[in-house]
Amino acid sequence: MSKIVVIGGGVIGLSTAWELRVRGADVLVLDARTAGMAASAVNAGWVSPAMAGPVPAPGLVRTSMKWMMDPESPLYIRPRFNKSFLAWLFRFWRSCNIGAYQAGFEATAVLGKGTMEIMDRWQQEGVQFEMHDFGLLYAYRDRVAMETDLEAFQGVIPYGYAEPKPLWGDDLREFEPVLSEALVGGYHVKEERTVQPITLVTGLRDALEREGVEIRNGSPVVDIEVSNKRVVAVRTPMERIECDNVLVAAGAWSAQFGKMVGAKLPIEAGKGYGLDFKPAPVKLQRSIYLHDDRIAISPFDSGLRLSGTMELSGISDSIMPRRVGAIEKGGKKYLKGFPEDAKPVHTWVGMRPMAPDGLPVLGVVPGVTNATVASGHAMLGVTLAAVTAVQMADLITTGETPDVLKPFSPDRFKGFL
Ligand SMILES: Cc1cc2nc3c(=O)[nH]c(=O)nc-3n(C[C@H](O)[C@H](O)[C@H](O)COP(=O)(O)OP(=O)(O)OC[C@H]3O[C@@H](n4cnc5c(N)ncnc54)[C@H](O)[C@@H]3O)c2cc1C
Repeated sequence: MSKIVVIGGGVIGLSTAWELRVRGADVLVLDARTAGMAASAVNAGWVSPAMAGPVPAPGLVRTSMKWMMDPESPLYIRPRFNKSFLAWLFRFWRSCNIGAYQAGFEATAVLGKGTMEIMDRWQQEGVQFEMHDFGLLYAYRDRVAMETDLEAFQGVIPYGYAEPKPLWGDDLREFEPVLSEALVGGYHVKEERTVQPITLVTGLRDALEREGVEIRNGSPVVDIEVSNKRVVAVRTPMERIECDNVLVAAGAWSAQFGKMVGAKLPIEAGKGYGLDFKPAPVKLQRSIYLHDDRIAISPFDSGLRLSGTMELSGISDSIMPRRVGAIEKGGKKYLKGFPEDAKPVHTWVGMRPMAPDGLPVLGVVPGVTNATVASGHAMLGVTLAAVTAVQMADLITTGETPDVLKPFSPDRFKGFL
């Protein structure tokens, strides 16, 4: 039986390892730190395939300029005069047009369809995790922004997503009584789900280990050996591991593996923060997105998580207190009864893997026949983990790229600086 090494045990690596195991493959997962405990543990946990729009969008450049001036805004770009980051930024900026946005939106909407069914199957197969089907409520301070987004939502309906229910004024507060009067309206997408992200990664880890898949923590891959356009082994500081197939699923750390095999995988880190309040200081019926401040609020069994912010500042665990403070302030401002003196028991940092066009990078790594990549999921890693896993496992085990993956091919970065 051929041996597949998965580099990176985040939600993408673990999910794909599970789907490979379901197909009978011999899989080994290597993680530099502790599998599951990077971005995949600290996110909002939303499974929201209808949010299919890529981050680079028409109008974002103008909004970003405004946000850049405000230290409490949801976006920060740390100036870095590094050739590959500047090339990444340039491609990001070029992707902020209607044609690229629409193409990315459609490809993501098609890819994301079916994600809930796969997650339901995982639970039947014995992967245990906390999942809620109370939907997702998008709430707005700005009436025009809500109308614009509701109209844009029509774009996913042809792909089989249900129409959301708009709620204006008091109807919004009747539906979710903790929301403050400062919010003029919202809409509820009842099909979307929320998982407690740590339970998802630990559930996958436990299920894999029960099935005999080894997950080696503290095993950073430092080199990939290639011979005749085939990966023959990976190296960690401790050992050389021969293999027949490699999957790069190292999230924001994935770019280095492209370099090891001579390919371009331009993936940057989009840092975000998660603030856990335990027990929940206010009782919510469902997950809420405060659109204007870009704050995600997730009620888990164990408490409430507020998350947000996008910092393009490279890979680092450092925290910018003003931005974390802005997330906390936003939650307190828009949720009635949130005590002013409530403090998070934990503040997390997570690095979203971001490609410059905002789309996942899924497929065979150019120049090598037996290495694949599954990364760049940006704000949708949890949402797209299950569908990514199924499609990537099919690709790895059959050698055929499924049609649904073609728009996400890493070939699109050939010639990138
Ligand atoms: C604040 C925040 C909120 C978010 N909310 C949501 C949400 O509600 N819904 C959603 O769908 N997505 C959300 N996301 C995005 C989601 O968390 C990510 O897209 C997803 O976790 C990426 O998963 P991953 O497996 O690619 O990466 P990671 O979870 O980062 O895992 C990568 C793994 O690779 C390992 N690794 C790195 N280098 C090496 C090496 N050399 N050798 C071996 N292993 C290595 C790391 O240790 C890590 O464990 C959010 C993200 C943030 C930060």
